[in-house]
Amino acid sequence: MPPSASAATAPAGTPPTFADVQDAAQRLAGNAHRTPVLRSVSADDMLGGRVYFKCENLQRTGSFKFRGAYNALSRLSDAQRKAGVLAFSAGNHAQAVALSARLLDMPAVIVMPEDAPVSKMAATRAYGAQVVTYNRYTEDREAISRRIAQERGLTLIPPFDHPHVIAGQGTAALELLQEVPDLDLLFVCVGGGGLLAGSLLAAQALAPHCRVVGVEPAAGNDGQQSVRAGHIVRIPTPHTIADGAQTQALGELTFPIIRAHVHDMVTATDEQLMQGLRFFAERKKIVVEPTGALALAGALHGGVSTRGQRVGLIISGGNVDLARYARFLAD
Ligand SMILES: *Cc1c(COP(=O)(O)O)cnc(C)c1O
Repeated sequence: MPPSASAATAPAGTPPTFADVQDAAQRLAGNAHRTPVLRSVSADDMLGGRVYFKCENLQRTGSFKFRGAYNALSRLSDAQRKAGVLAFSAGNHAQAVALSARLLDMPAVIVMPEDAPVSKMAATRAYGAQVVTYNRYTEDREAISRRIAQERGLTLIPPFDHPHVIAGQGTAALELLQEVPDLDLLFVCVGGGGLLAGSLLAAQALAPHCRVVGVEPAAGNDGQQSVRAGHIVRIPTPHTIADGAQTQALGELTFPIIRAHVHDMVTATDEQLMQGLRFFAERKKIVVEPTGALALAGALHGGVSTRGQRVGLIISGGNVDLARYARFLAD
């Protein structure tokens, strides 16, 4: 893996382009899974079209976050690699950075709240990362992260607002569009907008006729508000079971891409997400986390007509505490 970026691709801080998504695909080849695309007659019937599920719940570390993290880490200089990386996350980004660092032979520090789920902390440690905890009610994780990063010369890897992260996330839609080039609609879940922005770069280049729709939890529709207002709208942390989309605002890099190219932004309720989890378990025999069901719920309930359309849906992840998952299925 060459550490140097090709001249055609964006340095950190500048908006990513489709060339960056293509570059990421090359770096991820043989390192990330090319996840399966599942079909379902019952989903076809529910949506009145032809449905293609891109299964990032089966990606390494259980979510698409591995794509962005691995791409970003693979582009660091030799000096940066030697010092290592830092991320603050209690969720899928933590595991994605931890495994990527291990594969690329770099030290990694992950800053997590001390009350983060034990299973997530254990998984992150098992990948070889050092976990530093903080009290989320009395301490500021960004200040802690900055201090540790400075002291140890670590490079901070943000979860969505970084060109190489966005480009990496775009490779999921790139693969889907390579397999199903004539998609009419693509539904993508939205937290900070890294997956959606990357998907838009891929769709613009490969299938400009394909309408891409972002799906947020109904309790936290800051992205929908932002696209309508024409500027980034910030909201209090939303209460929703979709913990991967509990973000307060889109990013400085993700928002302009989303605003320019997204067809629509729709929402789904927690109850609709739970119905989605049951559908995936019962019909497709796959474990999907609540956030991973946003695209299906948005396609079913978001008010965009799918009749007679070829519809792509990205299932973003499958990491969910089993006890919690069992409650969702039983409810
Ligand atoms: C991070 C995450 C999201 C949201 O992705 P963004 O790039 O922040 O919009 C959605 N689903 C899962 C499973 C995630 O881990």
